[in-house]
Amino acid sequence: MKITSAILIAWLRHAAGLIREQRDSLTNLDAAIGDADHGVNLDRGFAAVVAALPPEPSGDAGALLKSAGMRLISTVGGASGPLYGTAFRRAGKVLEGHTEFGPNELLLALRGFVEGVAAMGKAESGDKTMIDALRPAVDALAEALAAREPLAVALRAAATAAAAGAAATVPMVARRGRASYLGERSAGHQDPGATSAALIIRALAETVERYD
Ligand code: ADP
Ligand code: MG
Repeated sequence: MKITSAILIAWLRHAAGLIREQRDSLTNLDAAIGDADHGVNLDRGFAAVVAALPPEPSGDAGALLKSAGMRLISTVGGASGPLYGTAFRRAGKVLEGHTEFGPNELLLALRGFVEGVAAMGKAESGDKTMIDALRPAVDALAEALAAREPLAVALRAAATAAAAGAAATVPMVARRGRASYLGERSAGHQDPGATSAALIIRALAETVERYD
């Protein structure tokens, strides 16, 4: 299957829709271990990304994701703005010059996405951050593609792994970001960023499934 800028645009729109739908629940998760702004922050940013999408679904896939990243950096605020912004910019860098590309380029772009967050946030797996959803997702995608699964099936596995990764943050003690100020008291709550990261991966899986 070929992935095009049109599919990436549909992904960003669907991600924005899921974030809008889950805005209050993301904010409530952040109320428990942060400052109750994660859903509101992301909704503002993804709405701005959608508003700035090109009318014609053509052109460079890398440029598309890079400008989405810039927009997130300038509109989201909080820790998650620069983190997701960097993630989309790194993914865009991988796809630079491609108007369409295959599953392996998508995997490399998503690796860039995760490593962008990890580098900027200095977060490792188990720190109770978005990394705990994103890294298992990319690993599941790599494994499914290596087993020659079709892309839609592989992305479905990635989305399942991301949701499981987000759920697995509940007992963790936060070691990065605002939640880390709570120390042991951060345990017992699901990480808001891991939860939104799982939504973004789910949006990609559902979008590719629709185009498949
Ligand atoms: P803020 O904490 O500034 O209010 P948000 O509420 O928008 O920002 O986002 C919080 C989420 O950002 C956390 O749930 C966590 O997943 C993620 N996060 C925070 N700091 C880091 C970090 N250093 N590395 C990776 N992710 C982080
Ligand atoms: Mg917050």
